[in-house]
Amino acid sequence: MSRSKYSARNEFRSDTFTTPSRAMLEAALDASVGDAVYDEDDDTNELQERIAQLTGKERGLFCVSGTLANQIGVRTHLKEPPYSILCDHRAHIYVHEAAGLAMLSNAMVVPVKPSNGIYLTLEDIQEHFIVDDEDIHSAPTKLIALENTVHGVVHPYEELVRISQWCKENKIPLHCDGARLWNASVASGVTFKQYGEIFDSISICLSKSIGAPIGSVLVGSKQFIKKANHYKKQCGGGIRQSGPMARMAMVAIDENLGKLEETHRKAKELADHLVANGIALNEPPDTNFVFIDVKKSPIDNDLLMEIAEKHNVNVWAGRIAFHYQVDDEALQSIKTAIVEAFEQTKALDKKNVVTKIYNTTSAE
Ligand SMILES: *Cc1c(COP(=O)(O)O)cnc(C)c1O
Repeated sequence: MSRSKYSARNEFRSDTFTTPSRAMLEAALDASVGDAVYDEDDDTNELQERIAQLTGKERGLFCVSGTLANQIGVRTHLKEPPYSILCDHRAHIYVHEAAGLAMLSNAMVVPVKPSNGIYLTLEDIQEHFIVDDEDIHSAPTKLIALENTVHGVVHPYEELVRISQWCKENKIPLHCDGARLWNASVASGVTFKQYGEIFDSISICLSKSIGAPIGSVLVGSKQFIKKANHYKKQCGGGIRQSGPMARMAMVAIDENLGKLEETHRKAKELADHLVANGIALNEPPDTNFVFIDVKKSPIDNDLLMEIAEKHNVNVWAGRIAFHYQVDDEALQSIKTAIVEAFEQTKALDKKNVVTKIYNTTSAE
């Protein structure tokens, strides 16, 4: 079997830059080969059932990506336009899914900045919630979507329970973009079943954190998943022989879930080091990300690229991502590289400093 020389040990750009293990690739060779579009693939069915059981939901639906799982999940919740979706202003479904909410769901989005700067509270939601009072000027909120983790932050369980109870009382569905629910669960001790009780639907990533080459699973009620599958097919997301992908994902869960704690520890080590060197962070480093506050602590992007290359690490300024394949040597190198770039940026003419942050590029 030929393997590329690419290695993820020094890769901090995203937690998607993992490489499948030999065990994953070998498992793919023995996978079932039925047609999953007709629900005839054993390994795909097994994976779907496994994630559904884990979350206490009736059904799971294997999707090629988190974007697809989120978009069809959202679409399924929405029935009668005009309507709007309320979410965090940093939400992937809003910022990073190519206007899917506008194009696929015809939805207006109300992006909300948490008043505590970190996570949405029930009060934030109530303040921006658009009531369906038959006012013909408005687009009533018909879905609340939360991301957990959002920018690596674990949404506190007690707050989720409050939000969920309020949504149930008001008959508003609650979707979770749980691309990194694995991380949230490991960091907080809240089980997938507990999260399943809170949310009506959850999309769970298999490639972020867990390290499978591909896939997300959307979970919900039987009726919900049946309709979501209809939208999945409409989006061209039907996969025929998805057995090898499903089997690789199951190996990934078995092999890598237990490694998340160590991944979080590494991220925390970097975060502590940066703070000790006067670099401000945007969010607390609860899990596998370190978000630098590049407004308070500018780091010139070109300079960082140069210095990172010298120290043999790949990184984008602003957001440093950790995954299970990052090794200790790379952790020490990234600590040195970022502090060096930060110090050297101070010497530059401030007007020319370009700090690339996660979702935009800003000059300051
Ligand atoms: C990456 C990501 C997605 C989308 O996953 P893709 O598989 O890249 O489409 C959704 N939500 C969050 C929070 C993500 O980080």
